[in-house]
Amino acid sequence: MRGGIDLGGTKIQAVVIDADGTVRGEARHPTPTTGGPPDVARAMEDALREAVSAAGVKPEQLTGVGIGSPGDVDQQTGVVSGARNLPGWEGSFPLGEVLSNALGIETRLGNDVQVAVEGEHLLGAGKPYDSLLGVWWGTGVGGGIILEGRPWTGRGAAGEIGHTVVKRNGARCPCGRRGCLEAYAGRAAMEAKAHREHTKGIETDIFKIMKKRGKDRLTSSVWDHALRERDPLAESLIRRAVRYLGTGIASAVNLLDVEAVLLGGGLGSRFGDRYLDDLRGEMHKHLFVADSPPHLEVASLGDLDGAIGAALLVLKG
Ligand SMILES: [Zn+2]
Repeated sequence: MRGGIDLGGTKIQAVVIDADGTVRGEARHPTPTTGGPPDVARAMEDALREAVSAAGVKPEQLTGVGIGSPGDVDQQTGVVSGARNLPGWEGSFPLGEVLSNALGIETRLGNDVQVAVEGEHLLGAGKPYDSLLGVWWGTGVGGGIILEGRPWTGRGAAGEIGHTVVKRNGARCPCGRRGCLEAYAGRAAMEAKAHREHTKGIETDIFKIMKKRGKDRLTSSVWDHALRERDPLAESLIRRAVRYLGTGIASAVNLLDVEAVLLGGGLGSRFGDRYLDDLRGEMHKHLFVADSPPHLEVASLGDLDGAIGAALLVLKG
């Protein structure tokens, strides 16, 4: 059995899977919003220990633990740097080493989205394909690439489809540059845009819905409720995001000609099915070989894809 931990901006998801990839135990803890990397590492340890006991085993019985992390992940050293949506994590922290020592087992690290895409490729919606592009539509827009059946990570930073330019001198992206796909489709950027429009006097109930649901952010469930109430601002911002996703994804497909595109992430998993046709239509406008578009599918492992994909890191040499 192997352990896997998906470290997200709002939650830490841990799983224990067996040799077939079946989930034997899982646990979810909120990501600490204060403190620093050592506090986050402790919450990760707790989540894994809970998943391990749910699976009826002991930590030392695991072959190892894989970790999917945001930020700049050094797979060799296990150091994570610049994970900006985690508290106090602007610098570097030896996450792999700290968790190895705490749990008494070997750890392996990978980029959170890349491992989720690998999980989908081995066990989920990506199974039938030799080449695919995963687009993780959530707080940001991340990506992962599989070519000829193997992950393509470039020199370590491949797959950043969220920072492909969809409009020169366009909207400011959370990365500081302009016109990136994430500046239009990332949840954080969409929330900032909703704030600006609301301040300008555009009518919307989305912030009322947020408060009513006890949230301090426009989470995917808040967007979902706003869309169900046909809130015009929410609808127009989601459609705008889908338009830009179509533009960015079609450009990536023109370059890589992958068999399939998988849509995952908080917003992608929740809205993927509803907006798949719109997305296909937007892509069609920009596809160079428009009569043979790639398969377009929604990720199928759901909330667990990142943690399962992380656990699969343990098998790799
Ligand atoms: Zn950017």
